[in-house]
Order: sequence, then C-alpha cells, then structure tokens
Amino acid sequence: MYSICLWLVGAYLKEMTASLRTTLVRISALLLLLFSSSSAFAFDVTVNGRLEQGGVVIGKAPAGSTVQFRKHNVPVAEDGRFILGLDRDAPAVAEIIIRSGKEIETRTIGISKRAWDQERIDELPQNLVTPDPKTAKQIAEDSELLRKARARLEKQAFYASGFIRPAAGPISAKFGNSRVLNGEPTAFHAGLDIGANEGTPARASADGVVVLTKPDMVLSGQTVMIDHGYGLKSTYIHLSKIGVTEGQQVKQGDVIGAAGATGRVTGAHLHFGLSWFDERLDPETILAAMPAAKR
Ligand SMILES: [Zn+2]
Repeated sequence: MYSICLWLVGAYLKEMTASLRTTLVRISALLLLLFSSSSAFAFDVTVNGRLEQGGVVIGKAPAGSTVQFRKHNVPVAEDGRFILGLDRDAPAVAEIIIRSGKEIETRTIGISKRAWDQERIDELPQNLVTPDPKTAKQIAEDSELLRKARARLEKQAFYASGFIRPAAGPISAKFGNSRVLNGEPTAFHAGLDIGANEGTPARASADGVVVLTKPDMVLSGQTVMIDHGYGLKSTYIHLSKIGVTEGQQVKQGDVIGAAGATGRVTGAHLHFGLSWFDERLDPETILAAMPAAKR
C-alpha cells in the first residue's frame, strides 16, 4: 500500500457531517453548462474549465468589469481575465454576476456533482486521531497561518504558465476522499498524494511566488505554499527538506524541496494541494484544464 496523509484528524468536526453526507448523496447526472452565449447578453463573457466540484474556471469579461461569485468579490485583471474555484461541495448551480459600466449580467453555471470515495483506516494510535489539548492548539495556530496565506491576493497572473505534476510517482490518494480513522469520520482529503520516495525532488507546479515556508507544522510537517496569482495557490507538504524562502519567485519545475514523511503520515509521499482563496480544489482538474504551456 502506498503512503498517504493522515493529517485530517478529528479536530475538524464541522466538516465531518458534510463529508459523510456527501458520500451518501447519490450521484446526479452530469449537469453540464447551462451557460451559453446569446444575443440577449449585453457584453461578452467567456468561461472555460472544468465545471465540476473541485474544478477551476478561467473567465474573461470586458476590461474594467467587476465579478461576484458566491461569497467572493473576484479579482479581475486589467484585461478582464479572472479565475473561479469550485469547491468540493459546490452546489449544482451557481451564479456569476458581472458588472461592466452600467450593465449587469448574471450568468448561471451548472457544476457537475462528483462521487467521493470513503477510506477507512483502523488500528491507528488513538493520539493520531484525537490530539491532546496542547497539540490541538498548535494545529489551530498552523491552520490560521495557512488560512492567512491562502487569503493573500497576488495580482500577477503567474498561473498562465500552466501546471505540472510536482513529482514523479503514482497517485496514492485522490482529492476529496472522506476518511474514517479508527471509526471516526474526519475531514476530506484536500489534495493529491503522490507516492514519491523520501528525497524525491518536489517541483513548483507553476510559476509563482513562495508565500509560506514552515518546517514544523503538526499535521503537514515541512510545508511550502506558492501563490500563482488571482487566488490560486499550491501547497507541498510532508517535505523532508525545504529549498525555498518566503518571497522568492519560482519558475515552473524549480525544485522547492524534497518529498518526505514529516507531519502526520503513514510514510513518505508528496501531498500536493491546490486552493482558490479558501476553496480547496482538485489538483487533477487543474493539470487537465491548465496543462503547462510548451516553452
Ligand atoms: Zn495527502
């Protein structure tokens, strides 16, 4: 069996019911794009990408537009480009509200529901599942640091480089699986685990700027986060070594550290996370929707 993360412990009680519920919900038929162009619209807006839970969307509105999507005032580049993230539990239908000058348009998109697997792991030492109060406090502090880093807004479209898989190796755990550890449901797995041996180089998935390096997070161990602009960030955790510093600009493919087994894991691997502000996205969808451009 390949090594995977165990760092989603019972501290995340709120997410637990949602994750359980999701596994019980039957898979609805693919609701593809309700979104279409029509002469009734006041101006052109395009939306491309994977319109599915965990997916990422690239849009273009007239320059100078403002865009709202769910709870977000979406940052829009000078040329009108914007990114939207669809979280794991995104609803079947959502609205994008675009304002350009005095015109307002509401576009409705259909978001395909996905089925999430459930993984059960038993006979773990119980302290890995239920942290003691001191550890729980450290976990909360780590989580706050990660939250702040994810909230940062970078207005350079580094993401335009496209994305690559950050290490060679088989996928040992997919994004979105719900987990039951020693019978306790925990939060879903918010990344992709790549079965890479200790010391395997971990590479920047896309161009960006390093916004967080932390060598000692309780759950994620040695941790690096890279900002790719307009809300998109990638995270590399359980590293055995960090090779970059905060504020450093990186190019796609640059070595940012090495895979390892730090934090809560069953063994060495690279956990590759992707987020759009606080929404967790499936890295596999961005690899498909925004593959690396040929240089
Ligand atoms: Zn993982």
